[in-house]
Amino acid sequence: MATQTGLPLFVLGQGADPHSEKGVECPGELPPASDPDLVERARKAKEALGDRLFVLGHHYQRDEVIQFADVTGDSFKLAQQAAARPEAEFIVFCGVHFMAESADILTGDGQKVVLPDLAAGCSMADMATFDQVEECWEALEDAGLAGEVVPVTYMNSSADIKAFCGRNGGVVCTSSNAKRALDWAFEQGRKVLFLPDQHLGRNTAVLEMGMSLEDCVVWNPHRPGGGLTREQLDRARMILWKGHCSVHGRFTPESVDDVRARIPGVNVLVHPECRHEVVLKADHVGSTEHIIKTLQAAPAGSSWAIGTELNLVKRLATMFPDKNVSFLDRTVCYCSTMNRIDLPHLVWALESLVLGDVVNRITVDDDTAHWARVALDRMLALP
Ligand code: SF4
Repeated sequence: MATQTGLPLFVLGQGADPHSEKGVECPGELPPASDPDLVERARKAKEALGDRLFVLGHHYQRDEVIQFADVTGDSFKLAQQAAARPEAEFIVFCGVHFMAESADILTGDGQKVVLPDLAAGCSMADMATFDQVEECWEALEDAGLAGEVVPVTYMNSSADIKAFCGRNGGVVCTSSNAKRALDWAFEQGRKVLFLPDQHLGRNTAVLEMGMSLEDCVVWNPHRPGGGLTREQLDRARMILWKGHCSVHGRFTPESVDDVRARIPGVNVLVHPECRHEVVLKADHVGSTEHIIKTLQAAPAGSSWAIGTELNLVKRLATMFPDKNVSFLDRTVCYCSTMNRIDLPHLVWALESLVLGDVVNRITVDDDTAHWARVALDRMLALP
Protein backbone atom coordinates (compact mmCIF):
# COMPACT_ATOMS: atom_id res chain seq x y z
CA MET A 1 0.00 0.00 0.00
CA ALA A 2 1.41 3.40 -0.87
CA THR A 3 0.92 6.94 0.34
CA GLN A 4 0.48 9.90 -1.98
CA THR A 5 4.24 10.28 -2.13
CA GLY A 6 4.60 6.75 -3.41
CA LEU A 7 6.11 5.63 -0.12
CA PRO A 8 4.97 2.48 1.63
CA LEU A 9 2.45 2.91 4.41
CA PHE A 10 4.34 3.02 7.70
CA VAL A 11 3.55 1.70 11.11
CA LEU A 12 4.04 4.61 13.47
CA GLY A 13 5.43 3.83 16.88
CA GLN A 14 4.14 5.15 20.15
CA GLY A 15 5.18 8.75 20.58
CA ALA A 16 4.90 9.60 16.89
CA ASP A 17 2.11 11.99 17.82
CA PRO A 18 3.64 14.57 20.12
CA HIS A 19 0.21 15.75 21.27
CA SER A 20 -0.20 12.42 23.01
CA GLU A 21 2.92 12.86 25.09
CA LYS A 22 3.05 14.44 28.49
CA GLY A 23 6.64 15.55 28.87
CA VAL A 24 7.83 19.05 29.56
CA GLU A 25 4.72 21.20 29.84
CA CYS A 26 4.50 24.16 27.54
CA PRO A 27 4.50 27.15 29.88
CA GLY A 28 2.16 29.19 27.67
CA GLU A 29 -1.13 29.05 25.86
CA LEU A 30 -0.48 26.60 23.05
CA PRO A 31 -2.84 27.06 20.11
CA PRO A 32 -4.86 23.93 19.28
CA ALA A 33 -3.52 21.87 16.38
CA SER A 34 -6.99 22.10 14.83
CA ASP A 35 -6.80 25.92 14.51
CA PRO A 36 -7.23 26.50 10.74
CA ASP A 37 -5.35 29.81 11.00
CA LEU A 38 -2.05 28.42 12.25
CA VAL A 39 -0.22 28.83 8.95
CA GLU A 40 -1.43 32.41 8.61
CA ARG A 41 -0.57 33.18 12.25
CA ALA A 42 2.99 31.85 11.79
CA ARG A 43 3.38 33.85 8.59
CA LYS A 44 2.17 37.06 10.22
CA ALA A 45 4.38 36.64 13.30
CA LYS A 46 7.38 35.98 11.10
CA GLU A 47 6.64 39.04 9.02
CA ALA A 48 6.25 41.19 12.14
CA LEU A 49 9.65 40.09 13.44
CA GLY A 50 11.36 40.65 10.06
CA ASP A 51 15.17 40.61 10.11
CA ARG A 52 15.22 40.29 13.89
CA LEU A 53 14.25 36.66 13.39
CA PHE A 54 16.09 33.75 11.77
CA VAL A 55 14.37 30.36 11.65
CA LEU A 56 16.46 27.21 11.27
CA GLY A 57 14.93 23.89 10.22
CA HIS A 58 16.66 20.53 10.54
CA HIS A 59 16.12 18.08 7.70
CA TYR A 60 14.19 15.76 10.03
CA GLN A 61 11.52 18.34 10.88
CA ARG A 62 7.90 18.10 9.79
CA ASP A 63 6.88 19.82 6.54
CA GLU A 64 4.44 22.05 8.44
CA VAL A 65 7.45 23.54 10.24
CA ILE A 66 10.05 23.37 7.45
CA GLN A 67 7.90 25.68 5.32
CA PHE A 68 8.80 28.52 7.72
CA ALA A 69 12.54 27.79 7.87
CA ASP A 70 14.87 30.43 6.42
CA VAL A 71 17.45 27.72 5.96
CA THR A 72 17.39 23.92 6.21
CA GLY A 73 20.30 21.62 6.88
CA ASP A 74 22.01 19.20 9.21
CA SER A 75 22.92 20.21 12.74
CA PHE A 76 26.33 21.64 11.97
CA LYS A 77 25.29 23.56 8.87
CA LEU A 78 22.46 25.10 10.87
CA ALA A 79 24.75 26.16 13.72
CA GLN A 80 27.09 27.76 11.19
CA GLN A 81 24.18 29.52 9.53
CA ALA A 82 23.07 30.89 12.89
CA ALA A 83 26.61 32.20 13.51
CA ALA A 84 26.58 33.87 10.09
CA ARG A 85 23.50 35.99 11.04
CA PRO A 86 24.77 38.32 13.78
CA GLU A 87 21.98 40.78 12.93
CA ALA A 88 19.30 38.29 13.96
CA GLU A 89 18.24 38.90 17.55
CA PHE A 90 16.17 35.72 17.73
CA ILE A 91 17.26 32.34 16.38
CA VAL A 92 14.30 29.96 16.45
CA PHE A 93 15.75 26.48 16.16
CA CYS A 94 13.40 23.87 14.76
CA GLY A 95 15.43 20.85 15.75
CA VAL A 96 16.45 19.26 19.05
CA HIS A 97 18.09 20.50 22.22
CA PHE A 98 21.78 19.81 21.51
CA MET A 99 21.45 21.70 18.21
CA ALA A 100 20.04 24.77 19.94
CA GLU A 101 22.92 24.57 22.45
CA SER A 102 25.45 24.53 19.60
CA ALA A 103 23.73 27.53 18.04
CA ASP A 104 23.95 29.40 21.36
CA ILE A 105 27.66 28.55 21.64
CA LEU A 106 28.41 29.79 18.12
CA THR A 107 26.27 32.95 18.17
CA GLY A 108 26.90 36.31 19.82
CA ASP A 109 25.93 37.33 23.36
CA GLY A 110 23.08 39.50 22.13
CA GLN A 111 21.44 36.68 20.18
CA LYS A 112 18.76 34.56 21.79
CA VAL A 113 18.22 30.96 20.73
CA VAL A 114 14.71 29.56 21.15
CA LEU A 115 13.64 25.90 21.00
CA PRO A 116 9.85 25.89 20.44
CA ASP A 117 9.36 22.77 22.59
CA LEU A 118 11.77 22.00 25.43
CA ALA A 119 10.80 18.32 25.24
CA ALA A 120 12.58 18.08 21.88
CA GLY A 121 15.67 16.25 23.11
CA CYS A 122 17.74 13.50 21.51
CA SER A 123 17.84 10.00 22.92
CA MET A 124 21.35 9.47 21.58
CA ALA A 125 22.72 12.62 23.22
CA ASP A 126 21.05 11.56 26.49
CA MET A 127 22.96 8.25 26.43
CA ALA A 128 26.19 10.01 27.43
CA THR A 129 25.83 12.18 30.52
CA PHE A 130 28.66 14.31 31.85
CA ASP A 131 28.95 12.26 35.06
CA GLN A 132 29.13 8.99 33.15
CA VAL A 133 31.83 10.31 30.82
CA GLU A 134 33.84 11.72 33.76
CA GLU A 135 33.61 8.31 35.44
CA CYS A 136 34.90 6.63 32.29
CA TRP A 137 37.78 9.12 32.05
CA GLU A 138 38.73 8.54 35.69
CA ALA A 139 38.81 4.80 35.02
CA LEU A 140 41.08 5.40 32.03
CA GLU A 141 43.30 7.61 34.22
CA ASP A 142 43.45 4.92 36.91
CA ALA A 143 44.47 2.42 34.23
CA GLY A 144 47.23 4.81 33.11
CA LEU A 145 45.66 5.11 29.66
CA ALA A 146 44.04 8.56 29.63
CA GLY A 147 47.27 10.20 28.42
CA GLU A 148 47.08 8.29 25.17
CA VAL A 149 43.31 8.57 24.62
CA VAL A 150 41.80 11.43 22.60
CA PRO A 151 38.07 12.04 23.15
CA VAL A 152 36.03 12.65 20.01
CA THR A 153 32.35 13.47 20.23
CA TYR A 154 29.73 13.47 17.54
CA MET A 155 27.85 16.74 17.09
CA ASN A 156 24.83 14.89 18.55
CA SER A 157 25.92 15.36 22.14
CA SER A 158 25.21 17.84 24.92
CA ALA A 159 27.29 21.00 25.35
CA ASP A 160 28.75 19.39 28.52
CA ILE A 161 30.20 16.54 26.51
CA LYS A 162 31.58 18.84 23.82
CA ALA A 163 33.19 20.88 26.60
CA PHE A 164 34.64 17.69 28.12
CA CYS A 165 36.32 17.01 24.77
CA GLY A 166 37.58 20.59 24.54
CA ARG A 167 39.14 20.40 28.02
CA ASN A 168 40.78 17.04 27.36
CA GLY A 169 42.43 17.72 24.00
CA GLY A 170 39.58 16.34 21.92
CA VAL A 171 37.39 17.41 19.06
CA VAL A 172 33.81 17.41 17.76
CA CYS A 173 32.89 15.66 14.51
CA THR A 174 29.88 15.40 12.23
CA SER A 175 28.78 12.44 10.13
CA SER A 176 30.44 14.20 7.15
CA ASN A 177 33.89 14.70 8.67
CA ALA A 178 34.20 11.81 11.16
CA LYS A 179 37.13 10.29 9.25
CA ARG A 180 39.04 13.56 9.19
CA ALA A 181 38.40 14.05 12.90
CA LEU A 182 39.64 10.52 13.65
CA ASP A 183 42.73 11.01 11.46
CA TRP A 184 43.48 14.13 13.49
CA ALA A 185 42.81 12.36 16.80
CA PHE A 186 45.19 9.50 15.94
CA GLU A 187 47.90 12.07 15.22
CA GLN A 188 47.45 13.31 18.83
CA GLY A 189 47.19 9.95 20.59
CA ARG A 190 47.08 6.17 20.24
CA LYS A 191 43.44 5.57 21.13
CA VAL A 192 40.13 7.34 20.71
CA LEU A 193 37.17 7.50 23.07
CA PHE A 194 34.28 8.00 20.63
CA LEU A 195 31.06 9.55 22.03
CA PRO A 196 28.13 8.95 22.04
CA ASP A 197 27.28 6.98 18.86
CA GLN A 198 28.98 3.61 18.71
CA HIS A 199 27.70 3.01 15.17
CA LEU A 200 29.17 6.13 13.58
CA GLY A 201 32.45 5.41 15.39
CA ARG A 202 32.57 1.78 14.31
CA ASN A 203 31.47 2.43 10.73
CA THR A 204 34.07 5.15 10.28
CA ALA A 205 36.89 3.19 11.90
CA VAL A 206 36.26 -0.05 10.03
CA LEU A 207 34.90 1.06 6.68
CA GLU A 208 36.86 4.27 6.15
CA MET A 209 40.04 3.82 8.17
CA GLY A 210 40.78 0.15 7.63
CA MET A 211 40.58 -0.90 11.28
CA SER A 212 39.16 -4.26 12.24
CA LEU A 213 36.18 -4.92 14.47
CA GLU A 214 38.68 -6.29 17.02
CA ASP A 215 40.25 -2.82 17.22
CA CYS A 216 36.94 -1.55 18.64
CA VAL A 217 35.54 -2.16 22.13
CA VAL A 218 32.31 -0.82 23.61
CA TRP A 219 32.29 1.06 26.90
CA ASN A 220 29.02 0.37 28.70
CA PRO A 221 28.43 3.18 31.23
CA HIS A 222 26.01 0.99 33.15
CA ARG A 223 28.61 -1.64 34.01
CA PRO A 224 31.60 -1.35 36.35
CA GLY A 225 34.74 -0.48 34.40
CA GLY A 226 32.59 -0.09 31.31
CA GLY A 227 32.28 -3.88 31.23
CA LEU A 228 35.82 -4.11 29.82
CA THR A 229 38.94 -5.84 31.09
CA ARG A 230 42.27 -4.07 31.34
CA GLU A 231 43.54 -6.27 28.51
CA GLN A 232 40.64 -5.28 26.24
CA LEU A 233 41.31 -1.60 26.93
CA ASP A 234 45.03 -2.06 26.26
CA ARG A 235 44.38 -3.72 22.92
CA ALA A 236 41.64 -1.37 21.71
CA ARG A 237 42.24 1.52 19.36
CA MET A 238 38.63 2.72 19.40
CA ILE A 239 36.73 2.82 22.70
CA LEU A 240 33.15 3.26 21.51
CA TRP A 241 30.55 4.66 23.88
CA LYS A 242 27.48 2.44 24.17
CA GLY A 243 25.08 4.91 22.59
CA HIS A 244 22.99 4.86 19.45
CA CYS A 245 20.23 6.68 17.61
CA SER A 246 16.86 5.19 18.47
CA VAL A 247 15.66 5.81 14.90
CA HIS A 248 18.63 4.72 12.76
CA GLY A 249 19.41 1.86 15.16
CA ARG A 250 16.12 0.21 14.19
CA PHE A 251 17.06 -0.57 10.60
CA THR A 252 18.19 -4.18 10.28
CA PRO A 253 20.06 -6.28 7.70
CA GLU A 254 16.68 -7.93 7.04
CA SER A 255 15.30 -4.48 6.09
CA VAL A 256 17.89 -4.40 3.29
CA ASP A 257 17.16 -7.97 2.14
CA ASP A 258 13.44 -7.26 2.17
CA VAL A 259 13.64 -4.07 0.11
CA ARG A 260 15.93 -5.74 -2.43
CA ALA A 261 13.38 -8.54 -2.83
CA ARG A 262 10.52 -6.05 -3.23
CA ILE A 263 12.21 -3.53 -5.55
CA PRO A 264 14.47 -5.02 -8.24
CA GLY A 265 17.57 -2.93 -8.90
CA VAL A 266 17.05 -0.72 -5.87
CA ASN A 267 20.00 1.28 -4.53
CA VAL A 268 20.18 1.15 -0.74
CA LEU A 269 21.49 4.38 0.79
CA VAL A 270 21.83 4.64 4.57
CA HIS A 271 23.07 7.03 7.23
CA PRO A 272 26.24 6.05 9.16
CA GLU A 273 24.24 6.07 12.42
CA CYS A 274 22.83 2.75 11.19
CA ARG A 275 24.23 -0.47 12.60
CA HIS A 276 27.42 -1.83 11.03
CA GLU A 277 25.65 -4.93 9.68
CA VAL A 278 23.15 -2.69 7.89
CA VAL A 279 25.82 -0.42 6.42
CA LEU A 280 27.73 -3.49 5.20
CA LYS A 281 24.67 -4.60 3.23
CA ALA A 282 23.89 -1.15 1.80
CA ASP A 283 25.20 0.19 -1.50
CA HIS A 284 26.00 3.68 -0.20
CA VAL A 285 26.45 5.35 3.18
CA GLY A 286 26.57 9.04 4.03
CA SER A 287 25.32 12.00 6.03
CA THR A 288 21.94 13.63 5.41
CA GLU A 289 23.58 16.22 3.16
CA HIS A 290 25.28 13.39 1.24
CA ILE A 291 21.96 11.55 0.92
CA ILE A 292 20.27 14.65 -0.55
CA LYS A 293 23.14 15.29 -3.00
CA THR A 294 23.20 11.63 -4.07
CA LEU A 295 19.50 11.72 -4.93
CA GLN A 296 19.92 15.03 -6.74
CA ALA A 297 22.57 13.46 -8.96
CA ALA A 298 20.79 10.13 -9.48
CA PRO A 299 19.40 9.34 -12.93
CA ALA A 300 15.66 9.64 -13.54
CA GLY A 301 13.88 6.34 -13.14
CA SER A 302 16.38 4.95 -10.64
CA SER A 303 15.12 3.32 -7.44
CA TRP A 304 16.35 4.24 -3.97
CA ALA A 305 15.62 2.85 -0.52
CA ILE A 306 16.75 5.34 2.10
CA GLY A 307 17.67 4.48 5.67
CA THR A 308 17.30 7.72 7.57
CA GLU A 309 14.58 9.70 9.35
CA LEU A 310 11.15 9.43 7.78
CA ASN A 311 10.31 13.15 7.45
CA LEU A 312 13.39 13.61 5.26
CA VAL A 313 12.68 10.51 3.17
CA LYS A 314 9.10 11.64 2.51
CA ARG A 315 10.38 15.07 1.49
CA LEU A 316 12.94 13.51 -0.86
CA ALA A 317 10.17 11.49 -2.50
CA THR A 318 8.28 14.73 -3.13
CA MET A 319 11.38 16.63 -4.29
CA PHE A 320 12.41 13.93 -6.79
CA PRO A 321 9.21 12.58 -8.38
CA ASP A 322 11.24 11.31 -11.35
CA LYS A 323 12.96 8.80 -9.02
CA ASN A 324 11.44 5.95 -7.10
CA VAL A 325 12.21 6.82 -3.45
CA SER A 326 11.24 4.38 -0.68
CA PHE A 327 11.76 4.18 3.04
CA LEU A 328 14.12 1.35 3.97
CA ASP A 329 11.92 -0.26 6.61
CA ARG A 330 8.13 -0.11 6.87
CA THR A 331 8.17 -0.46 10.65
CA VAL A 332 10.61 2.30 11.59
CA CYS A 333 8.88 5.48 12.77
CA TYR A 334 9.63 9.19 12.86
CA CYS A 335 12.06 10.60 15.38
CA SER A 336 9.50 11.38 18.08
CA THR A 337 11.58 14.16 19.64
CA MET A 338 12.20 15.90 16.31
CA ASN A 339 8.47 15.65 15.75
CA ARG A 340 7.76 17.49 18.99
CA ILE A 341 8.32 20.74 17.11
CA ASP A 342 4.99 21.22 15.37
CA LEU A 343 3.06 24.18 14.06
CA PRO A 344 1.28 25.00 17.37
CA HIS A 345 4.63 25.20 19.20
CA LEU A 346 6.18 27.26 16.42
CA VAL A 347 3.24 29.69 16.37
CA TRP A 348 3.36 29.97 20.16
CA ALA A 349 7.12 30.70 20.14
CA LEU A 350 6.88 33.27 17.32
CA GLU A 351 3.83 35.08 18.68
CA SER A 352 5.48 35.25 22.12
CA LEU A 353 8.53 36.90 20.52
CA VAL A 354 6.27 39.42 18.81
CA LEU A 355 4.87 40.26 22.26
CA GLY A 356 8.42 40.70 23.61
CA ASP A 357 8.43 37.43 25.55
CA VAL A 358 11.46 35.21 24.80
CA VAL A 359 10.13 31.75 25.61
CA ASN A 360 12.13 28.50 25.83
CA ARG A 361 15.46 30.25 25.52
CA ILE A 362 18.42 27.86 25.40
CA THR A 363 21.61 29.11 27.06
CA VAL A 364 24.94 27.47 27.76
CA ASP A 365 27.01 28.78 30.69
CA ASP A 366 30.23 30.63 29.82
CA ASP A 367 32.73 27.98 30.96
CA THR A 368 30.94 25.15 29.17
CA ALA A 369 30.49 27.30 26.07
CA HIS A 370 34.21 28.22 26.08
CA TRP A 371 35.45 24.61 26.17
CA ALA A 372 32.79 23.35 23.78
CA ARG A 373 33.88 26.09 21.40
CA VAL A 374 37.49 24.90 21.71
CA ALA A 375 36.41 21.42 20.54
CA LEU A 376 34.24 22.88 17.78
CA ASP A 377 37.06 25.18 16.61
CA ARG A 378 39.41 22.18 16.41
CA MET A 379 36.86 20.58 14.10
CA LEU A 380 36.60 23.71 11.99
CA ALA A 381 40.40 23.75 11.64
CA LEU A 382 40.50 20.17 10.30
CA PRO A 383 42.07 19.94 6.85
S1 SF4 B 1 17.13 11.01 14.68
FE1 SF4 B 1 18.36 9.99 16.29
S2 SF4 B 1 20.20 11.25 16.55
FE2 SF4 B 1 18.65 12.50 15.42
S3 SF4 B 1 17.57 13.63 17.04
FE3 SF4 B 1 16.38 11.75 16.68
S4 SF4 B 1 17.22 10.29 18.21
FE4 SF4 B 1 18.70 11.97 18.08
